[in-house]
Amino acid sequence: MSVHISTNQCRTINFQRRQRIAITGFCRVTKYRPCRVCRKPDWCGYTTDEQTSICMRISNGSTGTSRNGGNIFHHNRLFLVANPRTNRKQAPPPIEIAPIEVRNAVYQELIRRSPALKYYSQLIDGPSGLLSRGLRESDTQNYGALPRTHKERASLAHTLNTFVTVRFPEYARRSTHAAVIGVPGFWQPETGIIQLWSPRDYNMPLLVIPYRDDQGRIQACQLRLH
Ligand SMILES: [Zn+2]
Repeated sequence: MSVHISTNQCRTINFQRRQRIAITGFCRVTKYRPCRVCRKPDWCGYTTDEQTSICMRISNGSTGTSRNGGNIFHHNRLFLVANPRTNRKQAPPPIEIAPIEVRNAVYQELIRRSPALKYYSQLIDGPSGLLSRGLRESDTQNYGALPRTHKERASLAHTLNTFVTVRFPEYARRSTHAAVIGVPGFWQPETGIIQLWSPRDYNMPLLVIPYRDDQGRIQACQLRLH
């Protein structure tokens, strides 16, 4: 498949804050709508239906290369770089994304506490597990897993929130939000119980695929549903 980014295909409306809203075709990312893969505000692009990103920086995990040399990502799989859609009325004001040091530490701790290896028969050895996709056994330890039920994920989120308050005490005190809020994937409804990913239960654990920057730090994770 070949995807071509052309800025003239991207019709835009200018709003007061020069926020660009696309109507058709492909658009370039902006600081208001950064790249969903690398989070940067320039160079990359996306389709206006939000189903496909063309990232110019990260190739790991892409499904192909576009005509302009970008890496194609289809978002039919879930992405931890954004929080799941919740009821708009209940959605709190936007929260600033946690710095890379915090994100990296939280995602590393998540993978350490909840490795894909914990669900060996489902995520590693299963019909569409990591081994069936050609990964070596030794590589599988780099992947994490989100438990199947929202209760188990909330428990993991609680543990990781405590981790942030201990590891980054100053950062944790920055606002009234729970410490881990700001790391994509974590959110806090009015009940106050921190949630990790969606409020629903799945049939199987979710595979967590880390995306690292050029210094090896985990900047985001992709979730894969089986
Ligand atoms: Zn990008």
